[in-house]
Amino acid sequence: MRSSVKSKYESYRKILEKKAEEVQSSMSAQKAAQVLAREEHPHDEGDLSQQSHEEWIFLNRNTLDIKLLREVQDALRRIEQGTYGVCYECEEPISVKRLEAVPWAKYCVSCQERIAARVESGEEALQEADR
Ligand SMILES: [Zn+2]
Repeated sequence: MRSSVKSKYESYRKILEKKAEEVQSSMSAQKAAQVLAREEHPHDEGDLSQQSHEEWIFLNRNTLDIKLLREVQDALRRIEQGTYGVCYECEEPISVKRLEAVPWAKYCVSCQERIAARVESGEEALQEADR
């Protein structure tokens, strides 16, 4: 049964892999490592204020890319595990329409909306930027 899920989502896997490559190539590995290091040390906010505005924007954009990349990699892992296409919150299947629009979607539309409303700002509000 798991393997049938896997092949069913084979086309999404290809899309996700392509997306991951795209995101990865859009940011330099060095900068990405810096941002990751920063995320692991959230108390280092001091140096953020010392950076130029441009650098801040650059890092901010990369942070979004990293978030997206994590979502994509997460989705790929779910395909491997056979849990892809199922909402994390309510465990209902995510609609094909939604997966086609956002292949790395973790939640169904109603849960996503509820979560977005609950966390208007902050870490949990992962925007599924359509890019
Ligand atoms: Zn749901």
